[in-house]
Amino acid sequence: MTVTVLLGAPGSGKGTQAKRLTTDEAFVHLSTGDMLRSAIKSGTPLGKEAQTFMDRGELVPDKTMIGLITETAQTLPNPTTRVLLDGFPRTLPQAEALANAPSAPVAKAIFFKVPEAELIRRLTGRRVCGNCGASFHLVSLPPKKDGVCDTCNGPLKQRPDDSEAVVLKRLEIFTKQNSQLLDFYRRQGKLVEIDADQPVAELQASLLKILR
Ligand code: AMP
Repeated sequence: MTVTVLLGAPGSGKGTQAKRLTTDEAFVHLSTGDMLRSAIKSGTPLGKEAQTFMDRGELVPDKTMIGLITETAQTLPNPTTRVLLDGFPRTLPQAEALANAPSAPVAKAIFFKVPEAELIRRLTGRRVCGNCGASFHLVSLPPKKDGVCDTCNGPLKQRPDDSEAVVLKRLEIFTKQNSQLLDFYRRQGKLVEIDADQPVAELQASLLKILR
């Protein structure tokens, strides 16, 4: 297994890009945010622990997150799997834990750069299908029918943590942690920065050049 870490603020497009690459290319997308939301939906102990932090826009404790990622890595048996890790690491201790897992070597860390005003616009306008998880945007990617998913007709909802107050908190936490992560991967010669303030298809083309 080789791992490509996707770094970037909430709303920088990591998840959107990773999801597209798993359909077009031989990548596996691991999103810690998606794993936690699914744990909340099924009411597991992990979900119960994570929910209060997530609703407030705060980070779930490192110990829990490192445990979750270690467990998940063991369920990926194919040694040639190429993993796109989205949402992890978010803190230096998480990055160090990942670096100490010989079964999941990090090949590259790609930082998605987007100006803050654009992040706020993207996050507060985001609407997600409660059924299949497809993501839309009120302005830049509206569904064909208001409030209804194009793919499965499920109901579109705003994630509780995409409200403006929580978005500002998430961005503040991101900014605090991110420079340490950038330094960590820069020192190892693994950091690649990408201008992610571009349309989805163009960003995907730039990303593929880096990944191939
Ligand atoms: P995301 O979908 O990646 O924006 O994640 C949603 C929320 O899940 C975050 O705001 C955190 O509360 C939590 N979360 C996801 N990944 C992590 C992580 N690696 N460390 C701590 N909390 C996380």
